[in-house]
Amino acid sequence: MMKDARNNCLFCRILRGEIPSRKVYEDDHVLAFEDINPKAPTHVLVIPKRHFAGLKEAQAADAELIGRCHLAAAEIARQRNIEKGYRTVLNVGPDSGQSVFHFHVHLLGGRRLSWPPG
Ligand code: 5GP
Ligand code: ZN
Repeated sequence: MMKDARNNCLFCRILRGEIPSRKVYEDDHVLAFEDINPKAPTHVLVIPKRHFAGLKEAQAADAELIGRCHLAAAEIARQRNIEKGYRTVLNVGPDSGQSVFHFHVHLLGGRRLSWPPG
């Protein structure tokens, strides 16, 4: 990965504390924070502390981090009592709406979620 990607990456900047965020959860491997433009009463982003662009670019070595992000989302959902129905979402590629190219799991919940998503 080019050094530039990390320098300019919005979520790497949040990880470095250069851009403030409302932290929800943190451990050695992942950080979770409130989405700045929430689409549901709970809208949290869970990101790995090591940069990779997204699911499309993920390698076998990223499998554990992908899992850890989802497990953190499940733990946050448990803590917030939204287990009646929540959704974890990966937007993959520009046509899906992916706008930040640092892997992230959206955790959405706290309201009824329609299916299929748009
Ligand atoms: P994507 O569209 O790539 O799947 O998701 C990126 C998410 O990052 C969007 O939901 C957007 O609202 C959120 N976002 C963009 N900039 C910021 C920021 O500066 N801080 C926070 N907390 N969220 C952001
Ligand atoms: Zn990054």
